[in-house]
Amino acid sequence: MIRIFSKKLWNEAKGKFEPGLLAISDDKIESLTFGKPEGVAAKQKIMDFGSLYIGPSAIDLHVHARDFNESHKETFETCEKSALKGGVSRVVCMANTRPRLDSVAQILEFFKRTKKLRARFIPFAAATQNLEGIEPTDWNALLSMPIAGLSDDGKPILDEKILRAALLATKKKSKFVSLHEEDTRISKCSALHLSETSMRLGIEGSPSSAESSLVQRDLKIAADVKAHLHLGHISSAESVALIRKAKRRGQSVSAELTPHHGFFTVEDAESLPLSQLSQFKVCPPIRSDEDRDSLGKAVGDGTLDCFASDHAPHSRFEKNLPIDQAMHGLISLEYFFPLYNELRIQNAWSWKSFFAASFSRPAALLPHLKGIGKFSKGFEASFIMFDPDLEQVLRFRASKSSNTLFEGKQIRGCIFQHWISGKKVYDLAEKS
Ligand SMILES: [Zn+2]
Repeated sequence: MIRIFSKKLWNEAKGKFEPGLLAISDDKIESLTFGKPEGVAAKQKIMDFGSLYIGPSAIDLHVHARDFNESHKETFETCEKSALKGGVSRVVCMANTRPRLDSVAQILEFFKRTKKLRARFIPFAAATQNLEGIEPTDWNALLSMPIAGLSDDGKPILDEKILRAALLATKKKSKFVSLHEEDTRISKCSALHLSETSMRLGIEGSPSSAESSLVQRDLKIAADVKAHLHLGHISSAESVALIRKAKRRGQSVSAELTPHHGFFTVEDAESLPLSQLSQFKVCPPIRSDEDRDSLGKAVGDGTLDCFASDHAPHSRFEKNLPIDQAMHGLISLEYFFPLYNELRIQNAWSWKSFFAASFSRPAALLPHLKGIGKFSKGFEASFIMFDPDLEQVLRFRASKSSNTLFEGKQIRGCIFQHWISGKKVYDLAEKS
């Protein structure tokens, strides 16, 4: 039995931090006892973490872990290193690997390669062969495996019939479809948000309607078939308004915020040297300040209810190109917790909203994983010890790639230790 005391232990029932004792037995939380230490277990050996905060580690529903034939960008091991440091215990991986995760054999290979890692890796299977949106994969076989569900992320599912059928197939197996909402007939290359900035820089912009038009269509399709709808990386105020309305009608929807859409606006692209402009290329694009503000508010009122990194490593020869030729995406997983913590402070989100989006809501979407989703007795002992006010300058070291807009940024929030299933997996004091 391990006993840990902190003056700031997360009390999920009350939605606040309180002095308390966390007892761990094997991989589970044995008990959480709130009150002063002398009152709870004075005679037992206790690890005292003083004023460091303790709360549940995160579940990231949107990671491009690469590996396989793109191990020059990232391997499962380097991705895990980022996750452990960033406070993420479960890494849900997108299917746009090479080869694609579109067959039983490839999913089995995924599990084989990730099974020994301390962070848990869970794949999505591709909804369609080679993510082409034309031929469905073998849903029956794939959805019987311990995967998160189906996703063609990186590409939209434009064929309504396929989406309708995929929603029904996942619903039957208590899994979900994660959608990349981009009408590629509107967005074209999608290098930057259509704005005065894109025009000033002479780059073809992509309007918000490329996203919101599909969000609108898919909310309707999901409502028709009475299936849950999960929307990846939401970027625009119009989409937020549609999701908010749907939730008010009682529709079952979940939606992600990424750190980059929470931090930046398209105008920030103008402060980058032209040689680094392609670092700003993400999909969907980073939009206006009204869009960013609406995303911040949407987490506060539960409209956006999942934090997700959309960690997307790329090598220099694929990213350091003119913006129209460069790959989409950036890395952020290594600082998952600090980045969202800084956004929490800036947007005045409650801790309750924070842990709902980092932990309990994503866990609720993965019902086949038993024993996660609550920070209470009998549940998995995966947690972080952190100081939410300590400032640090971000230095990305864990990933094989370095494509990010966050390098050198000064933000608040620092993880001291990360534990998964009752074992310490990261310690700031033992820096590698
Ligand atoms: Zn995507």
